[in-house]
Amino acid sequence: MSHQYTFETQLLHNKHKFDPATGGVSVPIQHASTFHQSTADKFGKYDYSRSLNPTREALEEIIAELEGGVRGFAFSSGMAAISTAFLLLSQGDHVVVTVDVYGGTYRMVTQVLNRFGIEHTFVDMTDLDAVEQAIRPNTTLLYAETPSNPLLKVTDIQAVSEIAKKHGAYTFVDNTFMTPYLQRPLELGADIVLHSATKFLSGHSDTVAGLAVVKDEELAKRLYSLQNSFGAVLGVQDAWLVMRGIKTLSVRMNQSQESAVKIAGFLKEHPLIKKVYYPGLAGHPQSKLQLQQAYGPGAVLSFELKNAEFLARFIEKVRLPVFAVSLGAVESILSYPAKMSHAAMPQDERKKRGISDGLLRLSVGLESADDLITDFEQALDSILTLEAQKEEV
Ligand SMILES: *Cc1c(COP(=O)(O)O)cnc(C)c1O
Repeated sequence: MSHQYTFETQLLHNKHKFDPATGGVSVPIQHASTFHQSTADKFGKYDYSRSLNPTREALEEIIAELEGGVRGFAFSSGMAAISTAFLLLSQGDHVVVTVDVYGGTYRMVTQVLNRFGIEHTFVDMTDLDAVEQAIRPNTTLLYAETPSNPLLKVTDIQAVSEIAKKHGAYTFVDNTFMTPYLQRPLELGADIVLHSATKFLSGHSDTVAGLAVVKDEELAKRLYSLQNSFGAVLGVQDAWLVMRGIKTLSVRMNQSQESAVKIAGFLKEHPLIKKVYYPGLAGHPQSKLQLQQAYGPGAVLSFELKNAEFLARFIEKVRLPVFAVSLGAVESILSYPAKMSHAAMPQDERKKRGISDGLLRLSVGLESADDLITDFEQALDSILTLEAQKEEV
């Protein structure tokens, strides 16, 4: 396919624009688990759907092209993609992981990999000296997530990849928050990019899926073998849903991001908000880096209420966002990292990472930004009113 087209056009005009067999303008869902072979010794391209399935393959080709990699892989969840990629490591290896990594990845590294003799060190990857110092002779992987979850810290992908290369290690980047529309880690030197396609890529809170894209053939062969061995492949209905989501990725991201900028600006000025974490704010410590390595700040922000005791009331009063785990959907999602995405992390570990009990994360959806701001305003005002009444008593 021609790379003359812009990304927006590529989302629609790729190899899977229509089905070559029928002209159907949607990838057919091939439910078959097995495929008839017509001769005793020469088999076709497809034999068994864990190994290769045409519907899943279409999604794998689409994401590989969008991320600029040689090959893509679709898994039954983001964690299945991440865990399978970790299986590239061997006993005795050491991995350096970004400190405020997704809670499920934290659990995989600290409770599963450790049992297989794979060591880890968590570092704040905004500090490149700390990254360098964490490297040991047996370090084989640097694992980054940027912007991070839930504090939206930005890691310099190119710099981290260079450090990894110097030490003969791989770089994996969890690109869930950005998607390839806003950030393409392989172009910045990463070896594998990982996604929870449950989030922005599918975009409608209606499927759980994971993706991995690999930069070179050698690593792709190894990851393919692990995908087939471990077997956590994505089902065909879900693969189709992710492909449908991807068609509208750029318009959804644009709209949500534009609203996120406005909402972050509103929250920053509100007297009940202690701090807003969003790389789209000028005050964010890595806002410049974010705009150098990505095409925008994204549509996720976190904010801390002045007093953690206000949180329950705020959540009760706010009407538009759903209060739920997850992010990256058409509807705005408000979540509570301490009790949701990072519940797998012990409280002292959360504290160390700055994930306070008064922190909320907002994934901005497609509602009007004005409606969302009005909604937050009334919820915050109700807290102000209550506090004023308390003072009077
Ligand atoms: C949700 C998420 C994951 C895990 O993906 P699942 O699809 O829930 O398994 C990994 N990384 C990030 C950044 C996420 O937001």
